[in-house]
Amino acid sequence: MKVVLQNLTKKFPNRNKKAGGEVVAVDDFSFEIPDGKLVGLLGPSGCGKSTTLFMICGLQKPTSGKIFFGEDDVTDLPPENRGVGVVFQNYALYPHLTVRQNITFPLENLKGEDKLTKQQMQDKAHEAAKLVQIEELMDRKPNELSGGQQQRVAIARAMVKMPKVLLLDEPLSNLDARLRLQTREEIRRIQRETGITTVFVTHDQEEAMSISDVIVVMKDGVVQQIGKPQEVYDDPVNLFVAKFLGTPPVNLFDGEVKAGMLHIGDDAVLSVPGAADGAVDVGIRPEGFLLKEDGVLCCALTGVEVMGRDISVVSTNPHAQSKAIRSIINAENKVDTDAKDVRFALKPNKVLLFQKETGERIYF
Ligand code: ADP
Ligand code: MG
Repeated sequence: MKVVLQNLTKKFPNRNKKAGGEVVAVDDFSFEIPDGKLVGLLGPSGCGKSTTLFMICGLQKPTSGKIFFGEDDVTDLPPENRGVGVVFQNYALYPHLTVRQNITFPLENLKGEDKLTKQQMQDKAHEAAKLVQIEELMDRKPNELSGGQQQRVAIARAMVKMPKVLLLDEPLSNLDARLRLQTREEIRRIQRETGITTVFVTHDQEEAMSISDVIVVMKDGVVQQIGKPQEVYDDPVNLFVAKFLGTPPVNLFDGEVKAGMLHIGDDAVLSVPGAADGAVDVGIRPEGFLLKEDGVLCCALTGVEVMGRDISVVSTNPHAQSKAIRSIINAENKVDTDAKDVRFALKPNKVLLFQKETGERIYF
């Protein structure tokens, strides 16, 4: 089922009464979520991710704009009539019910021709439990489960009605690092197996990049960029997106374009024939540096961290906007750790230029 968001806008009265006025939580969001895909909604806290998700599931009514499931306008439908499954950050299981009862709960109130017998409910609960691999926990209460197991129950409960759309709001935030990794792979597997159109909200760029078919990057209620994770990483439309994606983050420098040549300090580092003269922000991805004796960019070496397959070379440069420049170099390179300076050649497609004032990308 494709989901179409059409000029979705949500305004709230400002929570801060003194400041007054309105907060535009989501500002004119249009996007067609393709059928059967997993879309990652990504951005810092407060950028409007949850509000968007709540509008899709029907818990919040848009101030303006429309939502379609397939060809059907669902903008005014209550959540229970939309056929959505929702998982929140805090699992919100019923503590006094067993796992089985928690999972069958959404099936208890089906009416008319949808009404299920006890046996049918048990069968469906078992199927959903199998999907998230918790069949052996069916008779336990939530407080007898680990965080990861509780979150699986919440996913099973969201899946038991075979929703048309699955909505996940920071579902992994309360899990420890190892479980987070494991559960996100599970979610991806379940989504692939069932082909349910899924929206996955997170503020964690690595999480979004690793499991999404498409990511939507938001800032202050405004969509910044939509695309495949690799495309958005390689080709960010502005400085915000470039900085938000990638670990270690993109390295930023003050640069200047003079007659088609990009300069960082006194170093002429790259030919940028299409760029206009003037001061620019230069972003260089950590993997964009190559160690080279006569490289174009000279930095002062401060440290080398061995990471096995790669090494991380840490250096400084008076024109860098952060204290440390982090470059990732293939471990087959030998670095003289006693050297004062390192010189880097740059991979042109890993060098990104941005307008100083607006942060807009400059293409060259
Ligand atoms: P996110 O999920 O990305 O952290 P939210 O969608 O929760 O962001 O919030 C977006 C903005 O809307 C924030 O500025 C938040 O304070 C505001 N907001 C969200 N819900 C309400 C509400 N019920 N009343 C007032 N402001 C709200
Ligand atoms: Mg949120």
